[in-house]
Amino acid sequence: MSIKPIVAGNWKMNKTPSNSNLFISNIINILSDIKSVKVIVSPPFTSLSQLVVRAPIYTAAQNCHWEESGAFTGEISIPMLKDCGVEYVIIGHSERRHIFKESDKWINNKLKAILAGGLKPILCVGETLDQREKGQTDKVLFQQLTNALVSIEDLDDFIIAYEPVWAIGTGVNANVTQIENAHKTIKEIINQNINITNDMHILYGGSVNSNNAEDLISIPGVDGFLIGGASLDANSFASIVNIVEKNQEKQK
Ligand code: PEP
Repeated sequence: MSIKPIVAGNWKMNKTPSNSNLFISNIINILSDIKSVKVIVSPPFTSLSQLVVRAPIYTAAQNCHWEESGAFTGEISIPMLKDCGVEYVIIGHSERRHIFKESDKWINNKLKAILAGGLKPILCVGETLDQREKGQTDKVLFQQLTNALVSIEDLDDFIIAYEPVWAIGTGVNANVTQIENAHKTIKEIINQNINITNDMHILYGGSVNSNNAEDLISIPGVDGFLIGGASLDANSFASIVNIVEKNQEKQK
């Protein structure tokens, strides 16, 4: 892996602001020697404004609205996130697509707003079990990616998280062949549709933990992880970061 891998933790609707602060001071200590991995944490909005982070830790928001301000009760805009020191925004997570019925059009609006505002997107894509069993995985990835990228021709840093819906929070990760094929497909779709001027990371997400991280990070085309459950505990998150760091160091 020539680019610096990314390990991102999606906390979802977990941790109060005080719990978040505790976690961050803990993880900054544990990971103080990390040099070869970029670590991103994505706490709830309520924690973002008061978190003090420093390299190798960066913050991501779990969602955003595409308008800068206005009558959108309950929403958070890009300027608000920037003011909190946020650098990344997760969009298209399967929970937002399925529970909150977010459309590809909304995801495209969000992606354009993130880029216009100078933040970096982490775009999640992935098929449901039903779609996989019907042989539709590549088609779903194509649709989700091309619909998200409508009217976007160039991207500087692009982070995509391949997250098969059936692997999220289930304890069943996708296997080596499924992940390798999906990452290859995603790379081909991106290369055919837009120009990436800097780096592209394709992360894997879905039941990553400290027991399977070593095998998963060795899969060709995996540039890091997006982690839900195992990112909530500082020790388990740190041990995954350390596994990725070791793997990266091995390749130097
Ligand atoms: C996620 O929610 O993005 C995720 C990958 O969750 P988990 O690691 O718990 O499967």
